[in-house]
Amino acid sequence: MRIIYFVILMLIFNGCQTDPKDPTVEIIKNTEQYLYNIPINGFQIKNETVRNGQNVGEILNQHNVSFVDIDKVARLSKKVFDLRDVKAGGEYSLMFKDSITTKPNYFIYEINKVDFLVAKLEDSIQVYLDKKEVTIKEKTGSGVINSSLWFAMEESNLSAKLVNILADEIYPWTIDFFRLNSGDKFKVIYDAKYVDGEFIGVGKVHAALFHSGNEDYYAIAFNELGGFEDYFDENGNNLRKFFLKAPVSFTRISSRFTNKRKHPVTGRWKGHFGTDFAAPIGTPIYSTADGQIIEASYTKYNGYYVKVRHNSTYTTQYLHMDKSSKKLWAKNGIKKGKKVRQGVDIIGYVGRSGQATGPHVCYRFWKNGKQVDPFKTKLPEATPVNKSKRVEFENSKQIWLEKLSTINYPNEYLDIDSIEALTFKF
Ligand SMILES: [Zn+2]
Repeated sequence: MRIIYFVILMLIFNGCQTDPKDPTVEIIKNTEQYLYNIPINGFQIKNETVRNGQNVGEILNQHNVSFVDIDKVARLSKKVFDLRDVKAGGEYSLMFKDSITTKPNYFIYEINKVDFLVAKLEDSIQVYLDKKEVTIKEKTGSGVINSSLWFAMEESNLSAKLVNILADEIYPWTIDFFRLNSGDKFKVIYDAKYVDGEFIGVGKVHAALFHSGNEDYYAIAFNELGGFEDYFDENGNNLRKFFLKAPVSFTRISSRFTNKRKHPVTGRWKGHFGTDFAAPIGTPIYSTADGQIIEASYTKYNGYYVKVRHNSTYTTQYLHMDKSSKKLWAKNGIKKGKKVRQGVDIIGYVGRSGQATGPHVCYRFWKNGKQVDPFKTKLPEATPVNKSKRVEFENSKQIWLEKLSTINYPNEYLDIDSIEALTFKF
């Protein structure tokens, strides 16, 4: 990573030189150059990697930054980024206006491939977050399945992410990705994201066609009236169901809804008006349907919990969350009034707070104010495209169907050993 980035820098800044004594130091001579959105004309730049056990204070101290200034950086960064989250292996840069032997003017830490933290170490200390420019290109892909798509595509990062989107976000209610047939095939139109010319991931999937068991399953992304974007088939039916089966993935039900059971802690017999999903501590919990948070709180019995209102009929609640959920709530504004998206927004982490014997999420479900078992209740379908948006949907649909029709399926079949058959066009 470090090497690739360095090479890119060398290409972009054709006026830059490397210090022969220290290859991590670059001397920028070109005018009008920006790095991390900072004008760097005449700067010397040192690119480094955080070593095991090293912290920001230590790094800055080694580069002649005073303890007073380090303390200011620590205090100012609290509002934007926790410096304790700086990881070994993480990349940082020190930028010097004058000489590498003096105090740096900037310290930059790359939080991820897009976001970075800047500490300006001049007369007044400033700390802020900024982003690199992300370029998005629309791409197409297709594949034919010979054995298991899951295994075939997991070999490649790009395709694994696409498979996750197809399997978990677009088709989880339509196609069972663990039971695909040989000969099943798909086409997909998606956004690929780039930073500094480097592919960093898959963005939005605009449209897909999955041909499975002689059926065509179209998925077209469309923004519904004032709501979230959803995937619809060619007839404008929503591919999503109103509720997810579970608020956590990769889980097992450890206790079902019952009117009578012995409480594991108190030993008393009483009803269990929820479904327990056992999962490791820290597993993300999602709202099972789109909705608005009405409570994010703590009680002695529930522990940390969140309650979500989905409409005038349905409300759900998620109990025994881990204490770390509090930090997430503060960061993502998980509180009364916040709108959350089904299966997308994390509302907490599995824990064992309150009266719980082991890590699990107790999922409670209300229909018209009465607690019911969601597995024994007929649940609503998601609504089709609204009448007032129908013309807009038809126009958008035509564009995507035409684009899909121009994508060819690969001639060769995919199997575990030959993922090259996957034709992702760049
Ligand atoms: Zn329970």
